[in-house]
Parts: sequence; structure tokens; C-alpha cells
Amino acid sequence: MDAAKLKTAVTEQVDANRQRLSELARSIHDNPELGFQEIKAAAWLTQFLEENGFSVKRGICRLPTAFRASYGKGKPIIALIAEYDALPGVGHACGHNISGNISVGAAVAAKLVCDQLPGCVTVIGTPAEELYGGKAIMAKKGAFSDLDVAMMVHSGTSDTATTRALACQNLYIEFFGQAAHAAARPERGINALEAMIQSFNAINSLRQHIKSSARIHGIITDGGQASNVVPEHSAGAFIVRAEEDNYLEELKKKVLNCFKGAATATGARLKYKWDEARYAPMRNNMTLARLFVDNMKSLGRSVNLPDSGGFGSTDMGNVSQIVPAIHATVAVAPRGTLLHSPEFAAAVTSEAAIDGLCDAAKTLAMIVVDLLASPEILAEVKEEFKGEK
Ligand SMILES: [Zn+2]
Ligand SMILES: [Zn+2]
Repeated sequence: MDAAKLKTAVTEQVDANRQRLSELARSIHDNPELGFQEIKAAAWLTQFLEENGFSVKRGICRLPTAFRASYGKGKPIIALIAEYDALPGVGHACGHNISGNISVGAAVAAKLVCDQLPGCVTVIGTPAEELYGGKAIMAKKGAFSDLDVAMMVHSGTSDTATTRALACQNLYIEFFGQAAHAAARPERGINALEAMIQSFNAINSLRQHIKSSARIHGIITDGGQASNVVPEHSAGAFIVRAEEDNYLEELKKKVLNCFKGAATATGARLKYKWDEARYAPMRNNMTLARLFVDNMKSLGRSVNLPDSGGFGSTDMGNVSQIVPAIHATVAVAPRGTLLHSPEFAAAVTSEAAIDGLCDAAKTLAMIVVDLLASPEILAEVKEEFKGEK
């Protein structure tokens, strides 16, 4: 079968699986599970892959809800990355019920290619994208090191081939002061809440003088217990983001100085912890991005390069530092719907969302055809990646 016929075959296969993919997407939506607790989602997705002849390893990287499902033989290994975690409070407001199924649906269609040509199509199930950077943890354990290409399509409000994602790291802060009666003995107290408030003010001052693409934001998770007691403890969670790794390091020091300064000013003791997982910036492989555009356009969708591809941060960035990768988006919600909002969560079970799921799965499956049927295209993808290093 030539490449054109294979592309027709894989798109027909996605259509044949539409009902099942839509049921999976809706079940995962209706059973939102937080990072590292995606037991049902991982079980359902791996079951579907197993039914289709994939050999499945569950609990890879010592993460119970991570998995690797492969079909085919030898090299190259084309990986499709699946996410399936939800957000606290707003459920599937990031549409991972769709994006996980895009990769699974694409893989089940692309197995037809592996029946004809050498190579493997592999789904890597990556838990906890939202809260813990599951891929960053898995990257450290070598989960992506034997892959030739890694691709995924995220839920969004437009079709894009690339993503601009910032490097970021979470920072957890605590201040310890001295409790005292706020009116009778204020001079004996050390106010941990004031230390937190001064930190926010210092960060706000710092924000005038940082690169415009960088971001610093946070919340107070403990601000005291009673208004007549000087707060002896305060706590907060912050995220620092920057476009380049080097600048993130520079900015992290400046942000930390804001907390240190507030500790000195108030006399409260500072305790801080940077999260182990650090999200790397996204490196978009433009050769893969062009394949995405061409294949998605063949389905009648309007996607062009360069695109607006905006985003916060994604642990797919960590994967993109190891292996040529794309993190595309497909429209599954009306334009203007905000990611991480209840409106987005409500949109991701609509028929339009399932259309997006199927078109994105077809696009990825057709890229698998390009990569396995034309070694020169894969070579170009790898050349670009090497050339950037
Ligand atoms: Zn997401
Ligand atoms: Zn998200």
C-alpha cells in the first residue's frame, strides 16, 4: 500500500472507532481524576489499546497510572503522548479527556501502518500534567529516551501546530512568626502574614523590571486563624515562569530575594521549597509542525504556520528537550472559551469536541504514515532537532 492509500486507511479507521473514542472521552470527563489518581482513565485507555493488539506495560517509572503501549517491531519508535488528569474543582477544564483519546485513537489507527512497514507506534500514558509535571518525572527516569519522535494534540479553541510554552517551577513558601494578642501585646508578636504580604508587594515591584514574557503568580494558602491573634504562620504557593531556562534561574533568585527581604523586615523565619519537577520550555520541531499543518488541512480544517500557539507551561516541554516533538492544539470549544474554566469543561463533551478529537487523531495517524513510509522525512525531523542542539 502506498502512503496515500495508507492515509485513507488510517482516517477511515479513526471514523470506525469514533463511537468508542467518544464514549471513552465522555466517561473520562464524567469521572475526573486528579494527578496520579487517574486509575479509571488509565485502565480504560489501556484496555482499549490492549483490545487492539497493543502490548501494554502499566505502572512504568514507578507511577501506577503511567503506561506504555506498543504495536509493531523495531525502529523507528513514533510516540503519541496521552494525558488524562483533571483539575481540582473544575474537572476536565483542560480537556485532557479529549487529548488523551486523540493519541490513543491515532495509535489504534496507525497500527495499520506498522502492519505494512518497519517501526513501532507507542502510546506513552503520562499522568499528572497539571499539578506535578508527570512527564518531567518520567523524563528523569528515561521514559522518552528511546523514542524517535513524540507528538500530542492538546484541547483548545483553535487549530495550531505549535505551542509557546514557558519554563516554570513551583515555589512553596512558609513564614514562621510569634503569636500574641493582637491588641494587648502586639509588640511581642512577629507577624507571619505581614511577611507574606510584603513578599507580594516586593514581587509586584519586581514585576516592573522583568522580561515581558515572564510570569510570577501565587496564592496565600494560610493567612492566620483569628483576627485578634498575630498570625504565627503563613503559607503560599507560587509559580515562576520564563521563556528561557537561563532567565528562569535568574528570576528564581530575584523572587526568592523578595521573600528573604520580607523575612528580614518582619523578623519572621522563612522556609521555602522549589518543586522537584521543573517544566522545560517547549521546543517545537518545525518539520513535524509542517507535517501537522499539511495533514490537518487535508481534512478541511484551517491551520497555518506561523500560528498564535500561546499557552502557559506544559511538561511536554521536557519531552521536547529529549526528542523531536510537537504539542499542537485542536479546537474543541468555541473561540473565547477560557482554558481551565467551567465553560471549557462543559464544552469538551460536545459533538464538535468529538469532531476535533477525530480530526486530530487522523492528523497524528497520517503523520505516522509520513514518518514510517518516508525515511527521508524522519531524517529531516531529526536533522532539525540535532541542528538546534
Ligand atoms: Zn492541559
Ligand atoms: Zn491545563
